[in-house]
Amino acid sequence: MMKKKSKIRLYAGQELLAGLSWKLKESQAHYLLNVMKLDSGDSFLAFDGKNGEFECELAEVSKKSLCAKVLKKTRDFAACPDIWLLFAPVKKDQTDFIIQKAVELGCSVIQPVITMRTIAGKTKTERFVAQSIEACEQCRRVDLPEIREAQPLGRIIETWDKSRILYFMDETGAGTDVVRAFDPKAESAAVLIGPEGGFSPEELEILRKKDFAAGVSLGGRILRAETAVAAALSCWQALVGDWKRS
Ligand code: SAM
Repeated sequence: MMKKKSKIRLYAGQELLAGLSWKLKESQAHYLLNVMKLDSGDSFLAFDGKNGEFECELAEVSKKSLCAKVLKKTRDFAACPDIWLLFAPVKKDQTDFIIQKAVELGCSVIQPVITMRTIAGKTKTERFVAQSIEACEQCRRVDLPEIREAQPLGRIIETWDKSRILYFMDETGAGTDVVRAFDPKAESAAVLIGPEGGFSPEELEILRKKDFAAGVSLGGRILRAETAVAAALSCWQALVGDWKRS
């Protein structure tokens, strides 16, 4: 039996509407022609992060310029739940994994945070944006997460909007277990994951005193930061977010 090939999906980087023709960027043209081996007349899916997803057709193939015609809408725009991920960057491969999983698990905002024990060097926002777009293309999201510049934890806490609950994953075991901690009515929330070295006692003390913050335990085993990201977001989506079917 022939394996069904899934349709190629691309972030357009510009607004799409049925009937419109658009000129593809060089990198998009390279991907469709040279990597995916499409030809003129071949169709693919594109989304713009605003109007939804569309079936498009390669209209004109030349080395210099490549245009696509937007044929019809295939899916309406839908935003992911209002869950933010705040994470302390770790080593490169693990941070890449965190960005990819945060997108697949439906985060609306991804915010790198510099904590006392964060050892990762300069965070590369542009790289995170490119990775997040690739993950959206793969997982069929029609919205894009907002990727923010890294900020120190202290500044994030000082400027926090108190109407959004900040769940910090506390590896010391002092937090509430995750099933009880995640409030099903708090649909605007954020989860905060510490670095490989964990939060410092001073950071935990500050977080514990804030009314808008709640400590959460993910069980008795110490998880790697990237595992904690995936576990916390999965639990939130199951208990509060869009994995729950009412
Ligand atoms: N170095 C720390 C230690 O040995 O205790 C472990 C830090 S852990 C690798 C990185 C982050 O993942 C933690 O700061 C925390 O946010 C989260 N985490 C890991 N395991 C957890 C657990 N069982 N409960 C809650 N958070 C956890």
